[in-house]
Amino acid sequence: MSSNTNAFEMAQSQFDHVADMLRLDPEVREILRWPLREFHFRIPVRMDDGTLRVFQGYRVQHNDARGPNKGGIRFHPAETIDTVRALATWMTWKCAVVDIPLGGGKGGVIVDPATLTNGEKERLVRGYIQKMWKNIGPRQDVPAPDVGTTPQMMGWMMDEYSLLTGEFTPGAITGKPVGNGGSLGRTEATGYGVIFSVREALKHLGLDPTTCKASIQGFGNVSQYATIGFIEILGGTVVCVSFWDREDRASYTVSKEDGIDPHFLKSITDQYGSIDKNKAKAAGYVIEDGDAWISKDVDVLIPAAMEGQINADTVQKISKTVRVIAEGANGPTTPDADVVIKERGIFLVPDFLCNAGGVTVSYFEGVQNDMNFYWTREEVLEKEDNKMTSAFKAVLDMSLKENVYMRDAAYMVAIARVVKAMELRGWI
Ligand code: NAD
Repeated sequence: MSSNTNAFEMAQSQFDHVADMLRLDPEVREILRWPLREFHFRIPVRMDDGTLRVFQGYRVQHNDARGPNKGGIRFHPAETIDTVRALATWMTWKCAVVDIPLGGGKGGVIVDPATLTNGEKERLVRGYIQKMWKNIGPRQDVPAPDVGTTPQMMGWMMDEYSLLTGEFTPGAITGKPVGNGGSLGRTEATGYGVIFSVREALKHLGLDPTTCKASIQGFGNVSQYATIGFIEILGGTVVCVSFWDREDRASYTVSKEDGIDPHFLKSITDQYGSIDKNKAKAAGYVIEDGDAWISKDVDVLIPAAMEGQINADTVQKISKTVRVIAEGANGPTTPDADVVIKERGIFLVPDFLCNAGGVTVSYFEGVQNDMNFYWTREEVLEKEDNKMTSAFKAVLDMSLKENVYMRDAAYMVAIARVVKAMELRGWI
């Protein structure tokens, strides 16, 4: 397999590999290898200084056989149509593997949100909805936050959609602020979901989580709550997290061998997941280079930052002590690194299973919006845990039954469910 890290080529390569194993019909493959629909559009925004900037936006709808498309909108300076296609494709598999009645979508804008004022951000997200509103909504495609977008931005998007349609429609967007149609438990849902699946993986391997150490890449939404969950839900120790420093244009690892304090680190982290290095150093943390997280002598590695981070170069640095890799991020492992992980017998919890807690609670948010009745945080997290645990079990059972790698098993479960829905709808 190729060593490049184009995310969509990775997504297609993973799919092709399992399609070969399943001897999937070529006509069915032709549908599933590509998104069914994609939108490319330009969003003009009046900046605070009076100038006009035009941003490139995308929305990709991969497959809606099982229900309306679902997936976040990412604001990132390195966004590309191929990243959005890959993420939309993974959303189809993610919703299918946790068995929620939704399809796969994803959106993106090429922008560094940290360079915009609040007013500029609001005009940009409203502009995104003005371009897309006819092709999204609770019965078509439901956006949500992702890297670079926030609950407040989702609130503005929901408002713009409601203004344009003339109906209060909270279920058009999820990840909204609580009190504005948002669900309790959504903020921590993805990170905690990662931890529910790590708990099941450790149980399967017969490891006691209270004696386990983890190393985590990133310190944004997913990684912060994965860190808190690893310590507070499982009773384990997290020896480091990492982050991208905008000013230095470099990544760093922030370590403490006897265990980091995520609440302290959170208090010195900005809204984009960048930690104040000087304050961390003053509190006794060691600042290392950005790749240091991957070579730590830990039991569990949790890449929870960006795609392509475990690749042909970095995979060789993984310590012999590592028993579990839990992919909090989407697409953190390239196909050639996958081969090495498989050969070394490290237990992998693949991305679209591992980080499915976010979309699961987004789905619960939409359900609560439809009912106009809201559950407590405990009810939401318990329902999420049940979904994540049964999805993990379905994939593990498939992996043991067919004697295949966990990523391949997750694809087998997901592809079978999507193909079944396409058959029942008469598409194939
Ligand atoms: P975020 O923007 O809140 O945080 C990203 C973190 O990664 C930040 O701390 C940033 O500094 C760090 N980072 C970025 N590049 C890095 C690098 N090269 N090295 C080290 N650290 C780096 O984003 P998030 O919402 O936590 O999402 C993280 C990943 O999880 C993405 O792949 C996203 O698609 C995926 N994901 C997110 C959700 C969700 O609900 N937020 C759900 C499913 C999957």
